[in-house]
Amino acid sequence: MNVSHKLIALTISLAVAAGCQRSDQETTGADAPATREVPAAAAKFAEVDGQRLQNAAGEPSQWMTYGGTYSERHFSNLDQIDTGNVARLGLAWFADYDTNLTQTGTPLYIDGVIYVSTAWSKVYAFDARTGAQLWYYNPKVPGEWAVKVCCGLVNRGIAAYDGKIYVGTLDGRLIALDAATGEEVWSKLTIDPDQRYSITSAPRVVKGKVLIGNSGGEFGVRGYIGAYDAQTGEEAWRFYTVPGNPAEGFENEAMARAADTWGGEWWKLGGGGTVWDAIVYDPESDLVYFGTGNGTPWNQRDRDPTGGDNLYLASIVAVRPDTGEYVWHYQTTPGDTWDYDAVSPMMLLDIELDGKPRHVLVQPCKNGFLYVLDAASGKLLSADPFTTVNWADGVNLETGRPNVRPEARYEIGSVFNLAPGVQGAHGWHANSYNPSTGLMYIPTQRAYFPMIAEENYQPSEVGYNLGLDFAAPFTYYRDHPDVPSEFVGYVIAWDPATGREVWRGEENQGATGGTLATAGGLVFHSGGSSNEFRAYDARSGDKLWHVDVQTGVVAAPISYEIDGTQYVAVSVGGGTAAGYFAPNHSRLLVFKLDGTTTLPTPVEYVPRPLNPPVLTASAEEIELGRQQYSQYCAACHGTNGQTRGATFPNLMVTPLLHTQEGFDQVVLQGVRAERGMASFAQVLEPRDSAAILAYVVSLATAAKDAAPTAAAGPTVNQPHEDIE
Ligand code: CA
Repeated sequence: MNVSHKLIALTISLAVAAGCQRSDQETTGADAPATREVPAAAAKFAEVDGQRLQNAAGEPSQWMTYGGTYSERHFSNLDQIDTGNVARLGLAWFADYDTNLTQTGTPLYIDGVIYVSTAWSKVYAFDARTGAQLWYYNPKVPGEWAVKVCCGLVNRGIAAYDGKIYVGTLDGRLIALDAATGEEVWSKLTIDPDQRYSITSAPRVVKGKVLIGNSGGEFGVRGYIGAYDAQTGEEAWRFYTVPGNPAEGFENEAMARAADTWGGEWWKLGGGGTVWDAIVYDPESDLVYFGTGNGTPWNQRDRDPTGGDNLYLASIVAVRPDTGEYVWHYQTTPGDTWDYDAVSPMMLLDIELDGKPRHVLVQPCKNGFLYVLDAASGKLLSADPFTTVNWADGVNLETGRPNVRPEARYEIGSVFNLAPGVQGAHGWHANSYNPSTGLMYIPTQRAYFPMIAEENYQPSEVGYNLGLDFAAPFTYYRDHPDVPSEFVGYVIAWDPATGREVWRGEENQGATGGTLATAGGLVFHSGGSSNEFRAYDARSGDKLWHVDVQTGVVAAPISYEIDGTQYVAVSVGGGTAAGYFAPNHSRLLVFKLDGTTTLPTPVEYVPRPLNPPVLTASAEEIELGRQQYSQYCAACHGTNGQTRGATFPNLMVTPLLHTQEGFDQVVLQGVRAERGMASFAQVLEPRDSAAILAYVVSLATAAKDAAPTAAAGPTVNQPHEDIE
């Protein structure tokens, strides 16, 4: 199964939709969703207004916004499914998607209808009773836009308001869809299309405005968040996260102050600081909080030789929702040089700290510290490591600054085996919180990455701008087998009041997935590359239930209720250990007690063997290929040619290794542009393409030598599911 099937499937999606679905409800039959009970929302789809959003906790049967409520706790107050009966949980229905790529979308459930986004920024609406597809929307993102996307062609979610569903697209559009029909109501281009922006995150609706940021910090853009009128799409305000060229003046006081923390000519590459995930609204303080990403390039020496703090990179920022006016910020990683985005999901909690009730904003950050901030003032209340951290010895609560170890800044000529590595302690995956246990449930990673500065870094108009050797893990860990190199994921239960881990779930290779906490005393967890969707006891951490979903599962689950029955829904697909060439089953799965639907038996799959041609290239040519690969290829194909799971091909087993002409057609002539592989002729010449081919052949040869009988090579440092 590959992407070409997806393109064919796309054109006939409506025809196959019925055949793709199964339901265990006798009234619908297995293949006939056409005659069915009209959803309760037939007259009114997505009738969500500001009051309903603000009171979402009072409607536990619904899931109207990305994090469940404005507090973004990913908590369902439904308790029909509980610790005593979760073993009876079974599939109620499922629906196939027309994409076989990684799925990261959190669905919404509103008045009888499930809305969910998939890879390539597509949106589906299903009758939540039966699984019948109500509509499907494809924004038709140009395939070649993929070269501007750092970390998978994903979409993490949508928003609903006043009869409309809002989705941000990879090519930077914010689109309002009629929730009844899926027809476009308006479309607003939120970016400069000549720059390397993309959108993968979920919009939020606050006070009649749709808030959305964007991605692109690995390439070189100026980060910002925008607010757009929910009815018209007109831009209401924009808040940049880093200052522009001082010679052109500053948009506001916040930018002028930020410019004092920068040196060099950062604006030429935009600076970075993209707002690519967390956005939280607090009605109590009337503030919108968002996280900002890393600087561009990652290596601060190449971005700001003066070593300033570089505000507002790697920060949590609070602004007024009506105007976008700056109110406060907290910078988690001053002078970031490690790709330590501060965009990870945040939530609002009311907890007791040192005997005092506190209204706080909490973020388990990619840099390995969990920050508790006063929600109104931004004052730092606590900062504790929640995984292995070696770049800083704690955080000074007086100054709010981390105690950075000097060697962590990887001087040229040195190596620092960073923890958490650039994979991060925690990515975009949903945290959850159960008010009864007082515990947060945090998808957590333990990861290393060797930081090696790139000498003589030059900015590039194509590919990453990092200022470090992104292909380093393969050779460094091969040559240093005794240093830690693991990348594992698991869920932890964390007490934000005491700053302590209470229990830990099982560890799996690579990035882990999102969580959902429920009033039934359960924590549902998407188990990443384990292909397992599971439920833990929220208090003890005992694993009470699990199911093999036949593919990777990283998206966040939701729960809702119809006619007195509680359901749990999750998108699955992609990120499989088996890789791009393996069959992949991207679907929406919906569970209930005593559900009896079964998934089709997976197609048997025999992985492609390692069969590289004889390596004839010189060491110099292979080294040139390694450098070019690091710059232009590793973003999608991983640090060692095979580590992007289901989204991009494993180059070590591609037949193109045997034909330089065919390889050049893809790399230099763009024959696969519509699938996302644009031509790199702008920056690569035929000798570069030959060198890259030689480098990949050298990888495949080394892998085959290391494990002659293995289907694919060593998995040194696993996929970077969430480097964005
Ligand atoms: Ca990043």
